[in-house]
Amino acid sequence: MIAISNLKKCFGDNTVLKDISLQIGKGSVVAMIGPSGSGKSTLLRCINLLTIPDAGVVNVGGQSIIFDGKQTALPKARNLAKFRSKTGMVFQHFNLFPHMTVRQNVMEGMVTVLKIPKQEARAAADALLQRVGLSERADAYPSMLSGGQKQRVAIARALAMKPDVMLFDEATSALDPELVGEVLNVIRSLAAEGMTMILVTHEIAFAKEVADQVIFMRDGVVVESGPPAIVIDNPVQEATRSFLSRFK
Ligand code: ATP
Ligand code: MG
Repeated sequence: MIAISNLKKCFGDNTVLKDISLQIGKGSVVAMIGPSGSGKSTLLRCINLLTIPDAGVVNVGGQSIIFDGKQTALPKARNLAKFRSKTGMVFQHFNLFPHMTVRQNVMEGMVTVLKIPKQEARAAADALLQRVGLSERADAYPSMLSGGQKQRVAIARALAMKPDVMLFDEATSALDPELVGEVLNVIRSLAAEGMTMILVTHEIAFAKEVADQVIFMRDGVVVESGPPAIVIDNPVQEATRSFLSRFK
C-alpha cells in the first residue's frame, strides 16, 4: 500500500531523513517511535507531500512519485490534491476549521475535493460522526468540544476522504490523560476494520497492542523495524533498548 525508497530530506544543511526505505502492506498497522527530532513527523509529511522530499520515491496505493531535487516531479495541483486524498492525516493539534460546525468540518473535503453533492456528503458526514461517537455534537463548533472530541472529529474528517491509509502524528499527545482512551478506541476500531495506518506515538503499550510492525527511528534513519514482539520486547539494537528504557 505504501512503498518508500531511498527517501531524503534536508532542511538547509540539516539532513533530517537519510535514505529511508520501507514497505507497508494493505491492512498493516505500523507504529513509528523514536526520540524528538528523529524525523518521524517529516517522514509522515513526506508520505502525503505536505513536505516535499529532496530525493527518493513515494508510492501510495500504486501511484509513484519520483523526486530528484527538482520541483518537476510534483504533479499539477489537481493531481496533487488527489494524491493527498489517498492519505488521511490526523495531527496532534486537531487543525479543525474553527468557523465551521463539526458536520461542516467533516463535509468540507467531500464537497470541495471529491465533488460529492451536499446532501450525500451530509449523510456520509453524519454516518462518520456516528462511527466516532459524536452524532450529538454535529452542530457544535470546535471551540465547544473537548480535546478528545475534537480529535475524533479530525479522524472522521480524514476518513471522509476515503483514504487508503491513515497517518496519525501523535494524535493523543495534546490530550488530557482521561481523554486519550476515547481516541485510542477509535484507532483500535479502525485497526480491527483493516484500515492501513501509520501511527507516530509515544504510547508504547498501545503500539504493542495494535501495531503489527514497529519502526524505531533515530537521527533520520530507521534503526530497527519488525514486529512489536521483537522491536519493543526484545530489541536487537542498543539504541532501541536505550530509547525504550525511558518508558519503563
Ligand atoms: P518530535 O517527536 O519532537 O515530534 P520528530 O521525530 O517528529 O520529533 P521532526 O519534526 O520530523 O521530528 O523533525 C526532524 C528534524 O527536522 C528536527 O531537527 C527539526 O528541527 C527539523 N525540521 C522539521 N521541520 C522543519 C522545517 N519546516 N524547517 C526546518 N527544520 C525542520
Ligand atoms: Mg513530530
